[in-house]
Amino acid sequence: MSELSVLLVIPPLTQLNTPYPSTAYLTGFLRAQGYRTHQADVGIEMVLSLFSRSGLSRVFDELRARPIDELPGEARPMLSLERAYLDTIEPVIRFLQGHDHTLASRICQGNFLPQGPRFAALDSSGLERSERSPNQTDQAKHLATLYLEDLADLVQTTLAPHFSLSRYAESLAMQATSYDRLEEALAEPMSVTDEWMMESLWRHVEGHHPSVIGFSVPFPGNLYGALRMGQQLRAHRPDIKVVLGGGYANTELRRVEEPRLFEVVDYVTLDDGERPFLCLLEYLQGKRTETELCRTFLRAGPRVVYRNGAREPDISQVELGTPTYDGLPLNHYISVLDTLNPMHRLWSDGHWNKLTVAHGCYWKQCTFCDVGLDYIGRYDVSPGELLVDQIEALIAETGRRGFHFVDEAAPPVGLKQLALSLLERGVTISWWGNVRFESAFTPDLCRLLAASGCIALSAGLEAACDRLLALVKKGITVDQTVHVVQACRKPEFWCMRISCMGYPARPLGKR
Ligand code: SF4
Repeated sequence: MSELSVLLVIPPLTQLNTPYPSTAYLTGFLRAQGYRTHQADVGIEMVLSLFSRSGLSRVFDELRARPIDELPGEARPMLSLERAYLDTIEPVIRFLQGHDHTLASRICQGNFLPQGPRFAALDSSGLERSERSPNQTDQAKHLATLYLEDLADLVQTTLAPHFSLSRYAESLAMQATSYDRLEEALAEPMSVTDEWMMESLWRHVEGHHPSVIGFSVPFPGNLYGALRMGQQLRAHRPDIKVVLGGGYANTELRRVEEPRLFEVVDYVTLDDGERPFLCLLEYLQGKRTETELCRTFLRAGPRVVYRNGAREPDISQVELGTPTYDGLPLNHYISVLDTLNPMHRLWSDGHWNKLTVAHGCYWKQCTFCDVGLDYIGRYDVSPGELLVDQIEALIAETGRRGFHFVDEAAPPVGLKQLALSLLERGVTISWWGNVRFESAFTPDLCRLLAASGCIALSAGLEAACDRLLALVKKGITVDQTVHVVQACRKPEFWCMRISCMGYPARPLGKR
């Protein structure tokens, strides 16, 4: 066991219903290499600090200390409902965490939850006309989600402009043509949600004594949180090395030259984290030189330099090991339902263990896609048997049997192998994933997938026009797409989502 200790952190904010899988993969891998490794989802912990009696008390206290005419109009009626919010917040969170189903009927009766601006669209039956469900639990979840959204809006408009329920300061990273706006935001005093974020981080630092902290930044909405935590670590614990990686770095920081970024982080790594992190840990232990780092940016004097001299290849799917959720608060995630659409709700409702059928994309030809990047271009499929071994390990660890295959485009051949292995070994799960429209999805294959537990697929269709599909090298025509949709709709109870470039996702709904 190495003397180095690693803490991998998901900064605010990804999903509230289930952990983002990046730290789970890297934790499983680094532990298998002998490194003491822990993980934390600071995003869910920050949100739960807010959605607690003490968190809301603090919010209301701070608002009451302000002149009433400085508060936005929507905030004033909510202030008058303070007592009702304080009395209901913890029961509502327990309900959304799945710990108290009995609350559903009280919520649906209509006078339990205080009703803020988001409830204005409800009709007299208590649901938006488009969002009625015969299922009382679903209705209650939807109403409870509106209630949380009201509180999130209140916090955003008064105390923490960067806060929302699904992302944190995303606009700062989206508009980051220069580092100036991020630097300005980091120079401002911390907001109340920043403070809860830091309280969560310090708890994990005190509990695990890490020598290295890795921030996983999959989306723009995770960048500010990571940099704010990096800034505070640099100020109070400069002995801890700070690493930043993930999907945002892989796409937006590939040519980073901004030395100011390295005032709050020590290293930025690109593409799959396993090999770069392993090399970095060996470097920090004096077992390899700086030039032998793998796909890593660091600051050398006033300049940013890129080191990519490792000779070892990337870790294959077979060597990757099984991800682990150990250390993440699985029973504390909350299912929110901002829509009752059966496909869309999968993204925010329920716990899904996340795996990939393959690394990269087997097609890798679409002209608009980042096919030159490793996460698309390096195709490596997991054997079906190995995938089912991982599935069984995750069921044993989490007790949950829902799986989301998070491939960019899961290969039909890999899905077939997976389905056959699941059926042969009698492993019962529910699963869904992302695919490419592909004529290999015949009615027979779709029936097989459904028999193995597939409940939904999503796929992207950039244009309903053969000429444009050919121009973007999509490799399929509109007619073939229609056949795939018809094949996918054969098994009962499937749903499918078609996302269109430039348009909102179009649900086809439940059959
Ligand atoms: S199918 Fe999807 S992942 Fe593959 S190249 Fe096309 S857009 Fe990229």
